Amino acid sequence: MEEKYIQDGKETIVHALKTPFKDDKGNIRLFGLFLDITERKQTEEALRESEQKYRSLFENSHDAIMTLAPPSWKFISGNPATIKMFGAKNEAEFVSYGPWALSPERQPDGRASAEKAREMIEQAMRGGSNFFLWTHKRISGEEFPATVLLSKMTQGENTFLQATVRDITEHKLALDAQAASAAKSQFVANISHEIRTPLNGIIGVCELLLETKISSEQMEYAKIINASAETLLNVINATLDFSKIEAGKMALEHVDFDLRYIVEDIIGVLAVNASKKKLELLDFIEPNVPVHLNGDPSCLRQILFNLIGNAVKFTSKGEIVITVAPVEENEKTASLRFSVRDTGIGIPADKINVLFNAFTQVDTSLARKFGGTGLGLAIAKGFTEQMGGSIGVESAEGKGSLFWFIVPFLKQKPEVARAAEPDMHFEGASILIVDGNETNRLMLAKQLQAWKIDAATAANGPEALEKMRSAANQKRAFTAAILDMRMPEMDGVTLGQTIKADSALKNTILFLMSSITLSPETYRQNKHLFVAMIIKPIRQKHLFYNLLMALKGKDMSAVEEKWVAEFQKHEHYQIGDRLHILVVEDNLASQEVIFNILEKMGHLVNIVANGKEALRDLAMIHYDLVLMDVQMPEMDGLETTSIIRDPKSRVRNHNIPILALTAHAMEGDKEKCLAAGMNGYITKPVSIKTIADAIANITSSGNAPAPKDKKRNSVPVGASLAEATKEICPPPIPAVFDSKAFSNRLSGKIAPMSKIINITLDETPKLMRELERAVKKRQQDAAGRLAHNIRGGAANVSGNQFCAVAVKVETACNAGAWREAENILPELNRQFEILERAMREFQKTLK
Ligand code: ADP
Repeated sequence: MEEKYIQDGKETIVHALKTPFKDDKGNIRLFGLFLDITERKQTEEALRESEQKYRSLFENSHDAIMTLAPPSWKFISGNPATIKMFGAKNEAEFVSYGPWALSPERQPDGRASAEKAREMIEQAMRGGSNFFLWTHKRISGEEFPATVLLSKMTQGENTFLQATVRDITEHKLALDAQAASAAKSQFVANISHEIRTPLNGIIGVCELLLETKISSEQMEYAKIINASAETLLNVINATLDFSKIEAGKMALEHVDFDLRYIVEDIIGVLAVNASKKKLELLDFIEPNVPVHLNGDPSCLRQILFNLIGNAVKFTSKGEIVITVAPVEENEKTASLRFSVRDTGIGIPADKINVLFNAFTQVDTSLARKFGGTGLGLAIAKGFTEQMGGSIGVESAEGKGSLFWFIVPFLKQKPEVARAAEPDMHFEGASILIVDGNETNRLMLAKQLQAWKIDAATAANGPEALEKMRSAANQKRAFTAAILDMRMPEMDGVTLGQTIKADSALKNTILFLMSSITLSPETYRQNKHLFVAMIIKPIRQKHLFYNLLMALKGKDMSAVEEKWVAEFQKHEHYQIGDRLHILVVEDNLASQEVIFNILEKMGHLVNIVANGKEALRDLAMIHYDLVLMDVQMPEMDGLETTSIIRDPKSRVRNHNIPILALTAHAMEGDKEKCLAAGMNGYITKPVSIKTIADAIANITSSGNAPAPKDKKRNSVPVGASLAEATKEICPPPIPAVFDSKAFSNRLSGKIAPMSKIINITLDETPKLMRELERAVKKRQQDAAGRLAHNIRGGAANVSGNQFCAVAVKVETACNAGAWREAENILPELNRQFEILERAMREFQKTLK
């Protein structure tokens, strides 16, 4: 019997055993045995409470909790979440299933579920618990991924296991999606890199060509090749951009630019195709458009390129006219309307609404004829919207289309604009424009009028002669005339001959205007008639420069000097100041390229191969600028930069501008470099332009390198290795060793060729040994980097076949496809031996 007593305010529970008995005297007495069970009671109470708590957790848990008992490890209970997860009617049905019946026969690793489950259970029994991934099966037969936590429990003599199972289907889907998206970005980055590499060759060789002595026509063609390659690079960037737009990760640039160069560069590039189709490609920037703007010129270039490219593609006859006009303007900003009008096939009314969607083409059979991805307009729309603008189209089938877009820009400060545009007056000059194309006539006239030239027009030879004669009669002879080459009846040359044969007209200065397809021969034969050739599509500054030169006698030398300098600056990307630059780059081929480019630009250059050497140099020598590779052995670019920026480090100038050199162009890389303390970013392949632009950017952003001391005593490293070498890989037909291409790139200079061959043959086997080790150890970063270096070296010497195999290894390493990489390695070794033999043979011929 339990009894409670209160003693000193404390409750005591006792178990009382009371037995009556008679004492000696016969009185009934009570014998009591009291056992204090307070503690036991409290323990029991706590146990009951805890059991209740456990039960409540068990019942209400979102996770499925079940218990299994030895020796057969059958389920003995399951909470409501378990019943729901497995799709049983009730607990009784659930426990009726055998222990492995709720798993597929095999787990994803191929092992039998029953066998693997036993192992998992044993581990839990040994260690107290076990957490693992498991594929389960619902009663309906549907399989699902889960995490399982087995915990060992004891109750009295009994031991059992509690299993907590969580369905991770959704989590796994999210992870898979994340992995897929990461893989996609990586793929886009890789592909863009692969395309950039051969493009590097095109741009590099073209720039070398531009440095040689070639005729002005050839110069013009070479510039177009160059600009086309640059545009292609932009397209590749646009592909990257499209994936960024899609992922909502586009970042706009804010840089100063001159609108005329953007428009005219693109027109120049597309003019080749247009003139092949005998289309007139004309552009006109209204004189009241502010041209010194701030915004994202690459985006603008891309939109224009897509729209004008389409116009050329879908027009077979007539003209394409690009105009730029202001829509709204205040002190700080200007909204401009760009329009691209063509006389092409037009677009059916019912298709207009879907045009701007990705992968849309009006007529897929046409697309096959014209080529195209269906992405162009989607990118144009994405970019305009990103820039805060809008885009649209008006079109009539069979008559042509007019695509327009309006985007806002910031204006550069008025002082900047004024300084860049001296007075553009040709007062007193009168010029006759003779061209069969009315639009061109009108636009050219408007342009000349904006320069205060008295402009008149004529549609053909006879009309021109008539106007010129009547003006001469009135003692108002034209100062100059611009004659289009291609005119019916009387072409430009014939008209020129007639004018020069006429004593009243022969003092008129003549320009021949032609599309780039004019044979240079035609111009050369008629050079005595014309002072200059104006190439269509006309570049405003080119025209201005030509007029200036031709109309020289008119005392415009001050204007001229300024213009000529400005003109040349844009044309050649010359840097006025000589900087002392430290290049930190481990790849020998890249070292050569960058060294040559910087030297050509007139800078003083030192090269070191890793971060540690850079720090040592920076502690001893004063530099103006550092170009820093990001991926390097020993100490990478990010770490090196943070040490340079650390005030405690020993470098002389902690604020020295640092530009990153990186092969990757994805968003995020830039941030990483900037976060490490770098000031800017050059994407490989580097070209004179990318380097010049980046340096100019740093200079103009107030991050200017310190003033230079021209007599500074520093030594450029290494003998000048002649012309820049460039990665060109892989070629259309792999050859073992394209000695011709190699030799061409080095202008046939023996010493540098031999030196580069020696470097390659010395370095490559070392790199290959390291690569083999990295592959064996599955070190993805190192293997990718090494394979990339080997490939770069191979491309550099035009070891094409070897290069192609190295590309395969690189791809495999980057993808972590180790078996494949291992399979290709012997082939890489074999190809190297073949290349080595070929190069040694070639080297013998050099002596
Ligand atoms: P694509 O790479 O196919 O040119 P776009 O997105 O640039 O992709 O264009 C989508 C489609 O819009 C084209 O396939 C074509 O049918 C139509 N289109 C675009 N521009 C023009 C144009 N100037 N004239 C006629 N059709 C056009």
